[in-house]
Amino acid sequence: MKYNCPYDKKCGGCNLLAHDYTEQLQIKKDTLRKLLAPYGKLDEVIGMEDPLHYRNKVHAVFTTDRKGNIISGVYEEGTHKVVAVDNCLIENEKADAIIATIRKLLPSFKLKVYDEDRRTGLFRHVLIRTAHSTGQIMVVLVLASTMFPSKNNFVKALLKEHPEITTIVMNINDKRTSMVLGDREQTLYGKGYIEDVLCGSTFRISPKSFYQVNSVQTEILYNKAIEFAGLKGNETVIDAYCGIGTIGITAAAHMAKLSKAAMPDGWTADNRMLKNSGGVIGVELNSDAVKDAIANAKRNNMDNIRFYCDDAGKFMTKMAANGQHADVVFMDPPRSGSDEAFLSCVAKLAPKKIVYISCGPDTLARDLGVLKKRGYKVEKMVGVDLFPMTQHVETVVLLSKGEVDSKKIRVEFSLEDMDMSEFQDGATYPQIKEYVLEHTGLKVSNLYISQIKRKCGIGVGKNYNLPKSEDSRQPQCPPEKEKAIREAFKYFGMI
Ligand code: SAH
Repeated sequence: MKYNCPYDKKCGGCNLLAHDYTEQLQIKKDTLRKLLAPYGKLDEVIGMEDPLHYRNKVHAVFTTDRKGNIISGVYEEGTHKVVAVDNCLIENEKADAIIATIRKLLPSFKLKVYDEDRRTGLFRHVLIRTAHSTGQIMVVLVLASTMFPSKNNFVKALLKEHPEITTIVMNINDKRTSMVLGDREQTLYGKGYIEDVLCGSTFRISPKSFYQVNSVQTEILYNKAIEFAGLKGNETVIDAYCGIGTIGITAAAHMAKLSKAAMPDGWTADNRMLKNSGGVIGVELNSDAVKDAIANAKRNNMDNIRFYCDDAGKFMTKMAANGQHADVVFMDPPRSGSDEAFLSCVAKLAPKKIVYISCGPDTLARDLGVLKKRGYKVEKMVGVDLFPMTQHVETVVLLSKGEVDSKKIRVEFSLEDMDMSEFQDGATYPQIKEYVLEHTGLKVSNLYISQIKRKCGIGVGKNYNLPKSEDSRQPQCPPEKEKAIREAFKYFGMI
């Protein structure tokens, strides 16, 4: 079956729609195999039984069409125009229905959508997150101001039509920014977060925390990661880039079960912690996610896991400087991959196994190259399709320390000698596009990125056509896109 989507051309989000699902999996397998061939053999790409409507997180931008009717949807590829989307092939259908209701309710409450140029109106975006196994639903109304007339009645009317909604949060974004969510939040109904069950543990998800968008495939992904780690229960494990702690808590739960079975009669979990035999350390940069992670550990009665809010590279550097050791490192960095500080310190902590979970095959290949130089060998690789219809795919890789003389490695790859060229250019163009789209819903072109790179004094790659002279008639990057691109540069440490 091939897929039909009326928004396909304008939206551009699902670039494998022209292929049936078996073909899509084959394309992903071929791409991964080609990229990762220097490091090992990829087993397979695990697909979905039903590859539609899997996205548990749905974002819609609100505006009006030329006739003044309220529409909501996504930004048209390469522009700042909104494509009205009623039903999307990959989004959760309940979420789409709730967004349609909000569109319908706004005029009856005389509520206006935000006008970016005039900076008037109230409703900017709606973000919906649905929990696959508990059915809980969070609606985040992103507004330009706290002045929300008939707020309570609006909430009542929305709940009347959708009693399945479990929480409604008002997020205030009054800045001229292309970021979707602002800093201030107020819970209008329910707890302000939702809970989902994944691999047997319960997770709390707040509006801003990262949570994998495809829950069915995430369970498969995490189970593969745990299987690859081959835990015995008494290891020191690191969950780097841990988000709300999903992988670490799943591993910790698994370890607790194993070590309980192996614990001498009369021993308690406290004895185990005192003996320092077995535990997980999670590290994550986003403080909201860390709060969620700590709450999640408590919620699941975990006593063998601790979380730290820090840059993963800096954290590993500190651990290495303290002479600490780890047995297993799970690492699940964003699409831009890991960094030099992290990878060199991982090698110093000398874990026997590294389980690398990646959503960016290019950066995965780059980082595997670095780990290979430091004596790690790929044992197994498998792809898991978390993003049907799109070209994206997750990969889980098990690396182990080969039988290499560790002293020799230290001499050969000391920090001073290290080849930093892999990291010098910061993020790639696709990574920047991805970041901007993920955080603002805007699509930006290579041309715009290169224009802003030049403005920031960053070297521009050879591949991108620069205007031959400054006055040539190239479209100029609009201010909101410039802001979004600069935010991405900041995120990737390029400025
Ligand atoms: N393992 C989690 C999250 C993976 S997404 C899960 O499966 O749900 C990647 C996470 O890395 C995000 O939560 C992001 O906030 C975090 N992150 C990005 N850069 C980081 C850095 N330099 N140090 C630590 N965490 C970082």
